[in-house]
Amino acid sequence: MSKKAATVTEDELLQRRISHAQWLAGMLQDPTSTASLTVAAYADLLDELLQDVAVEAHREHRTGLLAPHGPQQQQPRPQPLAPLPGVKGATDVFGQVHPGTATDIVTCMHCGRKAQAGKFAYHLEKCLARGRGAAGGARTSRRAGV
Ligand SMILES: [Zn+2]
Repeated sequence: MSKKAATVTEDELLQRRISHAQWLAGMLQDPTSTASLTVAAYADLLDELLQDVAVEAHREHRTGLLAPHGPQQQQPRPQPLAPLPGVKGATDVFGQVHPGTATDIVTCMHCGRKAQAGKFAYHLEKCLARGRGAAGGARTSRRAGV
């Protein structure tokens, strides 16, 4: 029932659109009518815009700015800045050098020794194993303030 009502509504809408198109076609028969002049003005604007786009695309193609496979091609990856003067090796995006291992000094909370941050995991593993295996070494040195 609702499907039949929807079909009738679609038919009515189609008939209205056809009658509007026929009315507009009749208006466009007279080249001096407002409808004809409006359509001509919009056609001129559309032609002008299309010509601008075509000229711009042609210019981009001739200057090499236009991507060969259209806009869906991937953007070029951002490149890091040039290294700062006097800097060697790999740099970050700001041109600064960072060593392979972190050189910040970290104090072990278990034995109190200082170790480089990049090597702290290794130290902690040994430090905790030492504390577990031999009760003396690390704890004794921490008590001694080393
Ligand atoms: Zn330690």
